[in-house]
Amino acid sequence: MTHWLQVVVQTPAYSGVGGPLTYRSELPLAAGTLVRVPLGARETLGVVWQGADALADGPPEGMDAARVREVAGVLDGIAPLNAGWRQLAGFAAHYYQRALGEVALSALPPALRDLSATQVARRLKRLADGATAVAAAATDSAPAAPQVASENIAISQEQAGALAEIGAQDGPFLLFGATGSGKTEVYLQAVQALLARDPTAQALVLVPEINLTPQLEARFIARFGPERLVSLHSGMTPPQRLNSWLAAHAGQARIVLGTRMAIFASMPTLKLIVVDEEHDPSYKQQEGARYSARDLAVYRARLEGAKVVLGSATPSLESWHRSRPAEGDDADGSSRGKYRRLHMPSRIGDGQLPRVRLVDMTRQPPRTVLSPPLMDAIGQRIARGEQVMVFLNRRGYAPVLACNACGWKSQCPHCSAFRVFHKIDRTLRCHHCGFAQRVPRACPDCGNLDIAPVGRGTERLEEHLAELLAGVRRPGSVTPATPEGAPVRIARIDADSTRLKGALETQLAQVHAGEVDVLVGTQMIAKGHDFRRVTLVAAINPDGALFSSDFRAPERLFSLLMQAAGRAGRDAVHSETSEMWIQTEHPGHALFGALKKHDYPAFAASQLAERLQAGMPPFSSQALVRADARTQEAAQAFLTAAARAAEALPGADQVTVYPAVPMAVQRVANVERAQMLVESPSRKALQRFLTAWQAELHAVRDKSVLRWAIDVDPLAI
Ligand code: ADP
Ligand code: ZN
Ligand code: ZN
Repeated sequence: MTHWLQVVVQTPAYSGVGGPLTYRSELPLAAGTLVRVPLGARETLGVVWQGADALADGPPEGMDAARVREVAGVLDGIAPLNAGWRQLAGFAAHYYQRALGEVALSALPPALRDLSATQVARRLKRLADGATAVAAAATDSAPAAPQVASENIAISQEQAGALAEIGAQDGPFLLFGATGSGKTEVYLQAVQALLARDPTAQALVLVPEINLTPQLEARFIARFGPERLVSLHSGMTPPQRLNSWLAAHAGQARIVLGTRMAIFASMPTLKLIVVDEEHDPSYKQQEGARYSARDLAVYRARLEGAKVVLGSATPSLESWHRSRPAEGDDADGSSRGKYRRLHMPSRIGDGQLPRVRLVDMTRQPPRTVLSPPLMDAIGQRIARGEQVMVFLNRRGYAPVLACNACGWKSQCPHCSAFRVFHKIDRTLRCHHCGFAQRVPRACPDCGNLDIAPVGRGTERLEEHLAELLAGVRRPGSVTPATPEGAPVRIARIDADSTRLKGALETQLAQVHAGEVDVLVGTQMIAKGHDFRRVTLVAAINPDGALFSSDFRAPERLFSLLMQAAGRAGRDAVHSETSEMWIQTEHPGHALFGALKKHDYPAFAASQLAERLQAGMPPFSSQALVRADARTQEAAQAFLTAAARAAEALPGADQVTVYPAVPMAVQRVANVERAQMLVESPSRKALQRFLTAWQAELHAVRDKSVLRWAIDVDPLAI
């Protein structure tokens, strides 16, 4: 008997095919089944979206039955993806305005897409054999119960309070805990309680960056053992990812730890989702379906009846706005939020948050990079054998190389941006398109030999610090050969120093082992790491974000500085003397005032008041339409035509469409980029509008437009 199936496949982005395609099968395949189907001349992976039951009677109306092709193979070793997973993919596609096939298929591990049905079957068999071997070994040596290391940490009162609420209430929860308040311990114990209570339950723990997975993985493995935990992130090889995915899908893995892509992991018994550092912009995917893993986590939890815990010392203003204090201490009576706020203001072991010290750079000698009072403080820390972290959010040696005679600058020939000078390999490198060349010996325009770096990045800062600290000695290494102690050890951690696999781990281990006195780096070192001996953190030049045109810049700066400060004094022994130094030309700025008091709620209140006034998120919903073309005119003309076509759409009266403008970096790799902001006080109205608009956007597009995309809830404008 022939069955008619609706199958979702990965269709080319602009083929116009958005929904499922019809195939026939001799088998009554259930929805969620993974199949191989012919598509044009190729064969590709598909997911049965509507099973044989729903379409038993024949092909959809108007469809020529003779032309419906047959399913080529079934990945029958893999259980069908469940309804919850399919609904998540469907929602993400709809909400983020992408084709269902694109979202559903890219949510599956690449190896699954690339392997034939037989290859998958072989892989599954090998996995099953391995699992039996592990299980046999386990029954030989130890009881089969979940391996939970009895670390017996005496949890703090605040941790206990948060855990009690997570246990008793439905959530969603916003765990608002100071840096070092022990949020990770709360995640660990919440997972532990869940696994103990429910013998099949699964937990998903999301972290913002791959860099942070090894340390969290280590803590989870120490607690739960390696058998029931898998990771999922883009740093893994395709076979590793496939194995993790299969273990999660089969329910074998009880804990999945991963970056944003893990939000789409198939977890049939998912009961708890943790989103660590929920404010982090890395949770937003920046290409393809531009989803927010944090927002999808909240949706998925509701969908599956799971609990979700969003944790941060500096929550996103969206989450903060949606949260409310526990009943009873709702001071201003505004219980507008739906999330339950769990507050952990104290650091573990009565540790203090670092004292914030501002250096007024307008009172320093001109062109000062590292002010004398900061250098004094750094010198004292080193002399005491403590560690210092110096933080500058720009990598490379200098952002521009310039000729002093003719004004030549290291402009990228393909982008509207300067190429960055990297002294280490003597290159000029474009951070937008990757174009790199050796540094010219002389000015390419006038031949002048005097070409010089302008501004500074971490490489140059490292060099400068080495000069300034040349006379400083550290203790603890006084030998007859070096009676005055040894020279200061400086290390740099940024995207360049950690390019090689394993480099970051090695460098972090050196910091933890006390083999580094001064650590220089970008935001990479400001986040998450539990450095025990750092007692002074310095931000060299954070002013840029104060007056940015991006309305989220202050929010990001505040959280970055709070995070950076959170690296200092994590060891209670030193916490009383720990300091966060900030060099600024605007020491009176309100942002720094709130930072001095570690007062996130005050900062959030002032920002939210501004956003309310200006009608910006979270008080409105936004989307961006971006267009790439060979010329800026073509890109903007497309957007303008689309805007005109939108005037008649349903809901247009509730939506403001702003004029098309060039993007901040207007040209990248010889492609001109423009964007248009769309805004509405109502999220629903915006959604309805965008969905209706898709067809118009397809219609007005012509060949001059290389691509266009909608970014819903964009993070950078
Ligand atoms: P956060 O994630 O809030 O910054 P962590 O969970 O990393 O904080 O905790 C900071 C440090 O305190 C870690 O080294 C952790 O092992 C330790 N810690 C957490 N909870 C406790 C506790 N109840 N007792 C002792 N140490 C704890
Ligand atoms: Zn010149
Ligand atoms: Zn470039």
